[in-house]
Amino acid sequence: MSLVPIKNLTIRDFHDGLLNKDFTALEATENYYTRIREKDPSISAYLSTREEAALREAEQVDLAIAQNEEVPLLAGVPLAVKDNILFKGEITTAASKMLETYTASYDATATAKLKAHKAVFLGKTNLDEFAMGSSTENSAFQITKNPRDPTRVPGGSSGGSAAAVAADMAVAALGSDTGGSICQPAAFCGVVGLKPTYGAVSRSGLIAMASGLDQIGPIAKTVEDAAILFDAIRGKDPLDATSAEPENPEKYQEELLNPDFQKIKKLRVGLPKEYFDVEGLAPEIRNGVERAIEKMKGLGIAVEEISLPHTKYAVPCYYIIVPAEVSSNLARFDGIRYSRQGTRNKEQGTTLKDIYLRTRGEGFGAEPKRRIILGTFVLSSGYYDAYYDKAQRVRALIKRDFEQAFEHVGVILTPLTPTLPFKIGEKVNDPLAMYLEDIFTLPLNLAGLPGLSLPVENRDKGQGTRDKDVTPLSHVPGSMSLPVGFQLIGKPFHEPDILGLGRYYQENS
Ligand code: GLN
Repeated sequence: MSLVPIKNLTIRDFHDGLLNKDFTALEATENYYTRIREKDPSISAYLSTREEAALREAEQVDLAIAQNEEVPLLAGVPLAVKDNILFKGEITTAASKMLETYTASYDATATAKLKAHKAVFLGKTNLDEFAMGSSTENSAFQITKNPRDPTRVPGGSSGGSAAAVAADMAVAALGSDTGGSICQPAAFCGVVGLKPTYGAVSRSGLIAMASGLDQIGPIAKTVEDAAILFDAIRGKDPLDATSAEPENPEKYQEELLNPDFQKIKKLRVGLPKEYFDVEGLAPEIRNGVERAIEKMKGLGIAVEEISLPHTKYAVPCYYIIVPAEVSSNLARFDGIRYSRQGTRNKEQGTTLKDIYLRTRGEGFGAEPKRRIILGTFVLSSGYYDAYYDKAQRVRALIKRDFEQAFEHVGVILTPLTPTLPFKIGEKVNDPLAMYLEDIFTLPLNLAGLPGLSLPVENRDKGQGTRDKDVTPLSHVPGSMSLPVGFQLIGKPFHEPDILGLGRYYQENS
């Protein structure tokens, strides 16, 4: 069996290797499972794997190549999928006891599209329960470790997907993002994440958290890979009324996959002063992001300071709107319509109310319960106007800030997290400290905008105990420290701008 060079392997390298007959899809898949068996016991990125089925998928790709069929770029590429995205016939738990035994009866549109591209699916990755959290510690089943320092969290809620990619246990992965759940774990694990414009990717088959914000998107090793994966899953879908196509789909696709760097170089980049004035911004983050800005300038990109004055209201606004949506979306898990029933025991009674109480009491963990209670409160009569309605009005102001800024600049650059990846256990019992970690990712979600998370070299010494078995990413030269991420925010349906600029930056590093 040829040894497949899985360290730092990108989608493009994979495709070339396959067509040059350096390795077969079957060998590659086997190699990835060997890696998962070696590495995942210490990382816990996967909730479930599906080796037999994946090997059969890989064989089909090898057969197509042997018969000289033209195969798509993603053919045979071993991918991981966050366990809140449906994959027909596979258990899909959303990392909740509530769905411990639920088998998906249909494919999410994103999964179906990747199947049509002949991708290989290695397994389902861990997340915070129902995607609520920023550290993957809220999973009902296991805590995922950060491959760049296993004493620290990988971020969340798509921590399993980001850790699987960072530890070479998948070429790339799907995550979902409601308030930073793709971009923040990508930053904590030193990989790339794209949160698409709200509506760019169908939500059909994504277990709903907050339907007005949820989006599926890629986590990958390079910006180019993120663009390839995003292009494969995006588009209007009759199964999701909020999904949409960009204005000029052909031009959009061309710019997505083959950016014109001369045009990209002319984009003006805005630096919102409120994002740099945040109390508690770690010096390593500030230094790293400043280095990224200097590099942008060195590449001929014009930067200017801008203002997004309502930024400080994003955390309270989000943590009212999202629990409200959560409380209504999670009402369906009652043991009658959806989900397992709570354990039956005669003394506990047999009425409908008893079933609800048992099912929801036993099935949900602390964070979903907290949000259901909060959300029910802010939607209740007498409080609706003071909380929910007010938060929606603040959301409109946050959106308007961005619209005004985008009259002057094409892209906005900001830090991605206020701190470096924190220690496992450090914040899990302090929900407020955990919510504050989301300060830089929530505004773009509230405004429905696309965001790209990119790693930058952290030159500050003495951070972390990097796992020597995890290769530093080729575009983060010599970094032995913990990863620092920054983000590029774009106008709605301007993914080609942020991906183009991200690629220009990354490929000139
Ligand atoms: N950390 C955020 C939250 O807990 C983000 C979640 C997400 O994007 N799914 O709500």
